[in-house]
Amino acid sequence: MAICKKCGKVSEETAKVLSLCVECIRKADKKSLAELEAIHARSRQQFNLPPSPPSSPEGIQCRLCQNKCQIPVGGRGYCGVRRNENGRLKGGTPSEAAVSWYNDPLPTNCVADWVCAGGSGAGYPQWSYRPGPEHGHVNLAVFYQACTFNCLFCQNWHYRERSIMNKTRTAAELAEAVTAQTSCICFFGGDPTCQLPHALAASRLARKQNRQRILRICWETNGSMSPELLEKMMSLSVESGGCVKFDLKAMDANIHRALCGVDNSRTLENFAAAARHISERPEPPPLIASTLLVPGYIDAQEVKAIASFIAKLDPNIPYALLGFHGDFLMTDMPSTSWRQAESCLEAATEAGLKRVRIGNVHILR
Ligand code: SF4
Ligand code: SF4
Ligand code: SF4
Ligand SMILES: [Zn+2]
Repeated sequence: MAICKKCGKVSEETAKVLSLCVECIRKADKKSLAELEAIHARSRQQFNLPPSPPSSPEGIQCRLCQNKCQIPVGGRGYCGVRRNENGRLKGGTPSEAAVSWYNDPLPTNCVADWVCAGGSGAGYPQWSYRPGPEHGHVNLAVFYQACTFNCLFCQNWHYRERSIMNKTRTAAELAEAVTAQTSCICFFGGDPTCQLPHALAASRLARKQNRQRILRICWETNGSMSPELLEKMMSLSVESGGCVKFDLKAMDANIHRALCGVDNSRTLENFAAAARHISERPEPPPLIASTLLVPGYIDAQEVKAIASFIAKLDPNIPYALLGFHGDFLMTDMPSTSWRQAESCLEAATEAGLKRVRIGNVHILR
């Protein structure tokens, strides 16, 4: 429960950390946007993360993501994992990444499980070992411990305590973790974006070492990477039977900035570019979208805008609407209500999407 400091509206669906309601964020002026930026900067202090992407004129530019950090000697990028060591850019490379992994038995709680080869058997026998869920196989779940965004509701926020860490793993070590039971690798986190050189090298190595059998490469991402890196991810997913899962957090630029601390234009451009690959291998779907239904902020209006954007690219792109529960700096927020989820589902369908579903139903109130 919080009061919007602009319009005075009191609602349990206004987050204390923002103290602005969705309408006031949509029409925020420069001063309000600067205040929102300051909220994000403060939230990063306790993790020793840079308040904003560094822009040191004599620093080295990192081009992995939209933040284009110019990192000074001895400094770190916005993600915390890329650093300038004596004039050389380190972190997230094939020789060292802040990453951990585990085997997740299939079928698993994956945002794409209702349409992918591992969860549904789509593409059997070329892309799946079974005509249905792949019981007996595992997904190698790879968690990258850093991110290019700063979402205030981040449900995996503990990675922030590990973004700046000493223990690292090589791409070869990761590829070695693939066993005869592994049928897919899912790179997530945090976000794989800021450590993509490591993830791409590990994927290629793992595919090479398992050339004669199905080994799908999948990604769960905020979509902020450079367009060149996106092409490499898409190619690996398309040729392996895997998919790229984009989290489209908001369509309105102000709402995105308020919730995630950064701009959403790269994500949208990348999503459109990824959609151009669908015809190369339509099934199982190589591109999947999801949106977290943050109460009070990601409403039917927002979902309709996101769904219209997706539908214009291809109405068959699967779209998962995910239930939210309060976490990180938004623990005062209630979970998504059934009413919100159903109105968002209706909005997405009305926008023309043919494959929409509500995920995480167990947490809806
Ligand atoms: S990956 Fe992105 S956030 Fe990290 S240093 Fe590079 S440009 Fe900055
Ligand atoms: S990693 Fe890919 S294939 Fe495996 S369950 Fe997730 S989306 Fe499906
Ligand atoms: S993009 Fe995902 S991992 Fe990164 S801050 Fe946002 S919710 Fe957390
Ligand atoms: Zn307001």
